[in-house]
Formats: sequence, C-alpha cells, structure tokens
Amino acid sequence: MAKAEKAAAEQLDIVDHRLLDLLQRDFPLNARPFAAIGERLALPEEEVLARVRRLKDHEKGRLIRQISAIFDTAALGYKSTLVAMQVPQDQVGRAAAAINRHPGVSHNYQRDHAWNLWFTLAVPPDEDLESSLQALVDQAGGYPYRLFPALRVFKIAMQLDIEGAGDVSPVDSAQGSRPGPAPIPSDRDRAFIRELQEDIEIVPQPFAGVAERLGVSQQEVLAWLQEAKAVGWLRRFAAILRQRQAGYVANGMVAWQVPEDSIEKTAMVAASLPQVSHCYQRPTYPDWPYNLFTIIHAKSKESCQAIVRKISQEAGVSDYVILFSTKEYKKERLKYFAPAQGVATSRSHSLYTEAQRYMPGGVNSPVRAFSAVGGEPLFIARGEGPYIYDVDGRRYIDYVLSWGPLILGHAHPQVVSALKDAAERGISYGAPTALETELAKRVVEAVPSIEMVRFVNSGTEATMSALRLARAYTGRSKIIKFEGCYHGHADFLLVRAGSGVTTLGLPDSAGVPEGIAQDTLIAPYNDLQPVDRLFSANRGQIAAVVVEPVAGNMGVIPPEPGFLEGLRGVTKAEGALLIFDEVITGFRVAYGGAQALYGVTPDLTCLGKVIGGGLPVGAYGGRREIMEMVAPLGPVYQAGTLSGNPLCMTAGIETLKVLAQPGAYERLEERSARLVDGIRAAAEAARIPAFQTRVGSLFCTFFNGERVVDYASAKRSDTGRYALFFRAMLENGVYLAPSQFEAGFLSLAHSDEDIERTIEAAEAAFAGLGG
Ligand code: PLP
Repeated sequence: MAKAEKAAAEQLDIVDHRLLDLLQRDFPLNARPFAAIGERLALPEEEVLARVRRLKDHEKGRLIRQISAIFDTAALGYKSTLVAMQVPQDQVGRAAAAINRHPGVSHNYQRDHAWNLWFTLAVPPDEDLESSLQALVDQAGGYPYRLFPALRVFKIAMQLDIEGAGDVSPVDSAQGSRPGPAPIPSDRDRAFIRELQEDIEIVPQPFAGVAERLGVSQQEVLAWLQEAKAVGWLRRFAAILRQRQAGYVANGMVAWQVPEDSIEKTAMVAASLPQVSHCYQRPTYPDWPYNLFTIIHAKSKESCQAIVRKISQEAGVSDYVILFSTKEYKKERLKYFAPAQGVATSRSHSLYTEAQRYMPGGVNSPVRAFSAVGGEPLFIARGEGPYIYDVDGRRYIDYVLSWGPLILGHAHPQVVSALKDAAERGISYGAPTALETELAKRVVEAVPSIEMVRFVNSGTEATMSALRLARAYTGRSKIIKFEGCYHGHADFLLVRAGSGVTTLGLPDSAGVPEGIAQDTLIAPYNDLQPVDRLFSANRGQIAAVVVEPVAGNMGVIPPEPGFLEGLRGVTKAEGALLIFDEVITGFRVAYGGAQALYGVTPDLTCLGKVIGGGLPVGAYGGRREIMEMVAPLGPVYQAGTLSGNPLCMTAGIETLKVLAQPGAYERLEERSARLVDGIRAAAEAARIPAFQTRVGSLFCTFFNGERVVDYASAKRSDTGRYALFFRAMLENGVYLAPSQFEAGFLSLAHSDEDIERTIEAAEAAFAGLGG
C-alpha cells in the first residue's frame, strides 16, 4: 500500500468505520440525509458532513469514491456481457484504448492468462449488443473474443467490510422480489437517472441541487427515488469506496469448474464471504470448462489465494483458475443514458468508404445517400418491428420502412416464416405457381379498377409496361404526367420527376434522348385547366394521363377535391386512359388503394412496394379488355425472368393476409393521426413554420409556411431546415427519409410508445431549430 493510502486508512477512528459502513449500506433518502445519519450515530449534522468531506478529501486518501444512486443495469433495460479477448502481448494497450472509447465499457483489465483482456460492455435498451460488440472488436484489431454473459447472478455487492465484522449482506438485491421485468425508463426517467448517478454534493440538502437541475421539487426527486426502488431500477443509494485506498489491492477473478448440481451451493459459499464482490454463472466453451465466476478483492495475492482455498475446501471444488489483474485499463461506473459521444459511427463510415469504391456513390439507389441532408448514410445490420439497427448497434424508430413496402414492420414473423418455407421448396422456377394466382386474386378483389393483373419486378417496370399498353390500346403516343410525380426511371418518365430527381436538384436525367422525352407532356399537380389545355392542343394524340393519386415523391401532397374526378372526366371524354400509379398508395392509404379511398376508378393501375412485402415486385392491371392485349394473349410484349417468383408472391400474400384482418387500417389511421397531430403541435409550440400533410399512414412535414399543393409550392420548402430536423431526429433515434421530398411511412408495428417517443424527439428537434 502506498504511504499516503496507508496513512489514510490508519487515521480512521471507530466512528469513521461506523459511518463508512452506514454510508455503504443505507443512505437515508430524505431532504436532510446527513442529519438522519447523525441521529443514528449520535453526532450533530455538521460533524457528519465534516467527516464525510474528510473521507472524500484528496489529501487524505479519498477513501469515498462517490455517493450516488446505484442502478440495476438489467432492470434499466441495458444488455450487458463480459467479454474475453486474446490480444498479442504488444498490442494489448492499443486494443484496450480502442475498446475504452465505448461509453458502455466500464471495466477493462489485462489478466495473466491466454485470454488476456477482459472487459464488460453494456448497451442501452435501444442499442444492439451484438452489433456494438462487433464494431468494438473491429476497432480493437479484430482479435479472437468470447462472450461471457451472466446466466445467473448470485452476488453483486461492492460493499467492503470496513469494520471487519464480516456482516456484509451476501446477496445484494440484484434479483429482488419484484414481480416481472422492470419497465423501460421514459425520457423523464432517463433525465433523473442521468442526474442521480452522479456524486452528490456534501451539503445539508444534497438533493436540492439535483432538483434544481431537473426543474422539479426536492420532494419529487425523493419520490422518484422511492419509485425507482419499487420498480427495481434503483439497487441502492450509497457510498462506493476506493478499494485500493481501503487496502484491497489484489483483484482476482476466479473461474470455477463446478458440476451443474452444485453450482448453487458453491455460489452460496463464495457469496457469503465479504471479499467476494461478484459471483455469476457464465457459459462454458470446449476449451473453457469454468462456469462459475467470482471476483475477489483482497489485500494481497496471498490472502486472495487463501480465500480461494477456503472456498475450494468448503464447497469441495478443486478445479479453478485464478486470473489476477496485471493492469487496470478502465474501471468506472457505467454512465447510464449518457448522450451519444459520436464514437460509434466508424463501422458505418468504414463500410460506406469501402462501398464507394465498388458502387457509384456507394449505394444502389440514389435516394439512400444522405446528399440532401448532409453526412453519410447509415449501414443497417437488421430490422425488427418498427426498428432498424445500424451496424454500430444503434436503434432507430423507422419511418422509411424500405420506402414503403414494410407496412407490417420489419421481419414480420408470419412473412418470415412463410418465406423460409417457400425458399426451402425452391427459389424460382420460371414456370407458373398457384402462388401467383393467389396473389392476383387478392389484388383483383381489393382494387376496384383491376380485373386482371400482370406481376413484374419493380414499380418502374409496372409504369413502363402500363404506358406501353396504354399506347397500344389507344394507338396514340403522347402522355401527360404531372410535375413532381415520380413513376420510376423509364426514359420517357424521367421528365420533371420527383423523388431523387428532385432531391438531387436534377432538371431531368442525362442520357434521355430528346425524341423520347418529347412525347411526355407536363402539367402542374392539382390543377385541371392546364390538363384541359394540353388535350385541346394535342387532340387525338394523348394515350394516357398518368398520376400518383396522392403525390408521394415531392413530399406527400393529397389531391385537391375534384382533381382526380376531373382527370377521370377529361380522359374519358378525350378517349385517353387514366392510369393511377399506386406504387406507393396501393394497399397503403386503404386496402383498395387511393381509388377506393377517393371513389375514382382509373383504367389501369400500377402497384409495387406493399404487394411484395419487402421483396422486389411490381404489378399493373386494369379492365379485362385492355389487359387481354398483353402477350401471350395480345400483341403488347412484356416479360420477366423472375416475374411472379414464389418468394415475392409469398411475401405479398402474407402481407395482404395481415392487412385484410379487421381493424388493420383503422389502427394505422389512428396512430398516424396521433403522430402527425403531435408533430404539428410540436412545430407550433416551437413556432416553426411547417405544413403537415397526411393520407392514412403516409405523411410529410414540409418546412414551409404556405399550403403545399404542387411541385412549385413544395420546392419553396426550407430544405436546409429539413436537413437540421432530420439530423436532430436521427440523433434522437428516429429515422426519417433523408430528403424533404419523400414520404414518411408508418407500420402496424409502431406502438403508442414509439409514437410518443417520436413526438418527444420532434419537440426537442424543433426546439433546437429556433422559431
Ligand atoms: N411509382 C411510384 C409512385 C413510386 O413511388 C416509385 C418508387 O418509389 C416507382 C413508381 C418506382 O418503383 P421502383 O423503385 O420499384 O422501380
């Protein structure tokens, strides 16, 4: 023991000993805790305060590390594990430093064993442990590692027996008697946790400062602590000592090989000893047969070994290894719900850097890049329900949902299980299956205009083919499309298109021959007069009007009353076909799509997205007499190697089955309304000019003080502000489309709580923008 430390320990009198034991066990949760301690020790409050200050004093050995709330990692929803790594001896320091950058690493020791680096990792409820660990391992150098999560906790008690009476409670309340799992802390709870995990001030009313910082009363803080204890978040409120200053310099991790049926007995023997601070059952591996782990704090290696011998004899277990710590790289309290420190973006970043070498812009669809909002796209590791997890382990509430298809949320069990079965029967045959008829039947029954349907592989193919069919049917070549509507990337449709074309500020696409674009006539959305004028000027030449019945590619713009009806009227009168591109709206705004919602029936309809449940699909369909012109029945050629393949059909069928259940669209409607009302109210409260649109579970927040009804008004939105909003939402765990000119999508998997959290995130984001 160092001289100063030894001197400090020797200076303690009997009252200090009693005080330290009280502080470690039972810190009074009332407005004057030091007065309450004084009553128990028959000391005036001032003297208790003076002694505690002395015990924390830097000069005098700093025996007390801190006095604060001690939270239960698992009860707060944190996932945690012990990890062992095998690092070449000369790389240990570097690996440890990389690992320590993660805020969830609280302990990191070098130990004298082939597995030479041992650290603990804990991640909050919205982070994915495995992805975080993978990122950490990559950063540390990619060395072999092994997970040792706690299977059973027998003891967590960092109370050192200062008085030497050996009466430290053997099993701390890690698995208290409360029924069921603790609730996930709300944002308010997280704010309390962030404050209360910090060292209190040594003043008569230590909770007053906490209350002030939280903007609540002292009584509320104390009541919250009681509540936190009741639900299991708070393990205790207590002092933690510095073991080294208390003379406990030897830290031995002892791993025991115990027969399954005597684990409990051995654990009890070990846990009853005050020098054993932690005792866990952990998994074994072929070359690691040890299943019970104990951490022993002793004043020397020899006394640690003596304790191990004692446990060994009493429990009758002779197979064990002692791993002494040879270097302490990190040992600190885990800071719960600490704000992100931007350390974990590197896996996404390195994947993005690599992707850019092999694919244009590193992406396979331009809208996925973050060009319009700044920064780099996140690389996604997995999706579950309403959430996506990036490769750095962070979780986001997802409102992109693969750009619309995932109306049931990610990895819906019914879809996944049907897909597994289907894949086992074969991926594709290039020959008919009953699945195609089943999905076709469901589509025909649902969508008013469709009597026959042809499946293709994307929305682009659907619109391209539908227009070929319309031209063949009418014998005319011109078409009318609307400014800001996007119908996929066929040459003749890439004229004043929305979506990525608008996001990237491209007038049109390069590489489209003028001759091809000249048959595409453009009109503003939601305005009938220009359409009439185009018909008058091109009498007998217009094959079709193609429209998104709810525009979804310049943000979301609903049709003005009478607009769709007007298009129906003029096309009918002029002998042109009306084509609804319902790639977004189909089975989204209603089971029968926008045409069912608005009661306007087009001649042809294009579908995609939802009908493939997340697999690549598209479809076009309409009146029988028109569809019968498609090959092999008729002269309009259109084909596809993988069209109608069993996997896409299966995902589509299962998705539609769930959507057809009673109440599905009511639920989507109700939750979407709540979300959008919440966002609108948040914008108003922050005095941010915003125009909110929504049709069913399709929504958009335009950063625009005016009503947005067409491309021109949409383009007047403040895209810089959207970018700031997007980034703030992302930081708060909400994933929106990385562009002002895209739709937001909600799924059946989004819960009330997800919506609440999103609204809270929006409140914070708007507040940060300044009105
Ligand atoms: N039509 C509309 C309305 C769309 O929103 C999209 C794509 O977002 C498409 C067509 C093209 O679909 P895909 O991307 O599957 O080719």
